[in-house]
Amino acid sequence: MKPSKTSLSFEVFPSTSKATDDSLFASLEQMEGLAPNFISVTCSNRQASLEDSTVKIAEHIQQQHQVNSIVHLTAAYLNKGEVDTILTSLQQKNLQHILALRGDLYPNIPRSTDFPYASDLIDYIKKWDPSFSISAACYPQGHPESLNTVEDIHHLKLKVEAGADQLITQMFFDNQNFYQFQENCWLAGIEVPILAGIMPIINKRQAERILRTADVQLPKKFLAILDKYADNPVALRDAGMAYAIDQIVDLVTQGVSGIHLYTMNKAKIARTIYDATQSLFDLETNNTVVESA
Ligand code: FAD
Repeated sequence: MKPSKTSLSFEVFPSTSKATDDSLFASLEQMEGLAPNFISVTCSNRQASLEDSTVKIAEHIQQQHQVNSIVHLTAAYLNKGEVDTILTSLQQKNLQHILALRGDLYPNIPRSTDFPYASDLIDYIKKWDPSFSISAACYPQGHPESLNTVEDIHHLKLKVEAGADQLITQMFFDNQNFYQFQENCWLAGIEVPILAGIMPIINKRQAERILRTADVQLPKKFLAILDKYADNPVALRDAGMAYAIDQIVDLVTQGVSGIHLYTMNKAKIARTIYDATQSLFDLETNNTVVESA
């Protein structure tokens, strides 16, 4: 079988202050030369203005670094008029790619009824301007609100039918979960590329936060690492990076459509992963043969 090209992309998040914005810009500077296929910029459901955070950074990435950017857009608390304003601004700035999301719900905040689900937002954007490229989120271990896998995949298919061009997964730490999920998608007739979301775990606090909030399970193999190196930050970081690299090697070898790296705004993470795996991506691209010694 002819190997297809695997993409490599990064995710960054805007900050809440000018100082941390500057540190993100410095990180982007240090990522220069890694040439990801795109960099996506997250948004917050509760942020005052998408324009001053996510959009500003996405525009900076395209203009200063000549890398395509993807704007995350959560619509649970937006009405159609607000989405129209955002889409107009994105068009004007030549930001043509959106990761369309519903976003998390907060029981005490009244939500808009215009976009009950991400599929409603995707449908709206595609009718507004079909030239927007749309990504959507997916969950190898199931979305926490879903009753079961069948329901989850059925809802995912609605997003693809509404116009999602590619899917990006929630972070996962057991590749078998991803392969099973990918197969379920294929069986359901979902044929768009599915990019695998990989987050290297580099410290204990981060691991605890993920275990607490992200609704993903850490496999025994990783829990053993956490256990053994809990009090040795350098060893934990090294083991966490090696674990992520091992996941990526396996995924690229199995022909995954893309690796989407949750960089946590740290250029060192992006560069270490890039240095360790770039030859695999090149092999997928060029099909070159390495000479034996
Ligand atoms: P949906 O696809 O709408 O799904 C939400 C739930 O509703 C699921 O359980 C689904 O099965 C169900 N559902 C969907 N359609 C229907 C239907 N027609 N009828 C009944 N049930 C239905 N959050 C942020 O705040 N900012 C970000 O930048 C951000 N980026 C993300 C990037 C990625 C790659 C991923 C995987 C997640 C990201 N999230 C982000 C988190 C996301 O906002 C939450 O997981 C949120 O709870 C669901 O958003 P969604 O777009 O997947 O929702």
